[in-house]
Amino acid sequence: MRNVEFALRSPGPVHQSGRRGFTLFEIMIGMVIAGVLFVLGYSKLSSISTDARRQSCLDNQLLIDRAVRNWEHRNRDFPAGAELTFDQNGKIGSSGGLGSGKKPAGTAVLDLSGGADIFICAERALVAGGRSKLTASGRAAEENYVWISSATADPRLAGKRIGAYCIHYNAIGPDGTSETRHR
Ligand SMILES: [Zn+2]
Repeated sequence: MRNVEFALRSPGPVHQSGRRGFTLFEIMIGMVIAGVLFVLGYSKLSSISTDARRQSCLDNQLLIDRAVRNWEHRNRDFPAGAELTFDQNGKIGSSGGLGSGKKPAGTAVLDLSGGADIFICAERALVAGGRSKLTASGRAAEENYVWISSATADPRLAGKRIGAYCIHYNAIGPDGTSETRHR
């Protein structure tokens, strides 16, 4: 019995602290694995964010399109060549005969769209260094979106006749074609 008690109490060959520490090599391997996981996770995360911004821009275009068509439905048809421009601070410009009518499109569409927030492209806000910088007074009257009424299929709208598109990225823009793919 004494022998058994001795064996139980004996610290044995284990290190004084009761645990073996990590070697420098093991720590380095751990750091490399953590680094690889971080890089993989970060690139995945940033691609999700890019997709979210692209989706946000497409949502804006659909909302603008709906608001303009709502105005058109209440008032009159747009003449071919008419354009509405949407600046990031909430102003709507009109050309091609849209300033008149029962109610000028430039003032009515803002109400119908539910607010100026949808006139801001999230991708462009990111590039500008944040939404507040994009909408700063020094950048007033810059535009993110155009709604056009074209008599012929317009390459800015991927071959469609009428609709909204994101100006800033129209060269690389929103729907997969070389003209309108968004980045
Ligand atoms: Zn955009």
